[in-house]
Amino acid sequence: MTGRRKPYTARGIHRVPCSRCGSPSLHQWQVCANGNRWLGVCLDCDIALNRLSLEFMAVPNADGLMAAYEARARGRA
Ligand SMILES: [Zn+2]
Repeated sequence: MTGRRKPYTARGIHRVPCSRCGSPSLHQWQVCANGNRWLGVCLDCDIALNRLSLEFMAVPNADGLMAAYEARARGRA
């Protein structure tokens, strides 16, 4: 299993390569099927993962939620 048992610190996460693309991570996700280990994700992959999750879970207004989240996450709100 890949990832870390304990969450990365706010400072430490930036030194972790994104689990998907290798860019510096900004956020982290914990995946149950991966032994609840924490994986680093960069901003772009975090946004893609949020969109994927909302759409998979059929959350109403996924497009509106994602527009607001992306604006916040990228610092435009
Ligand atoms: Zn990435």
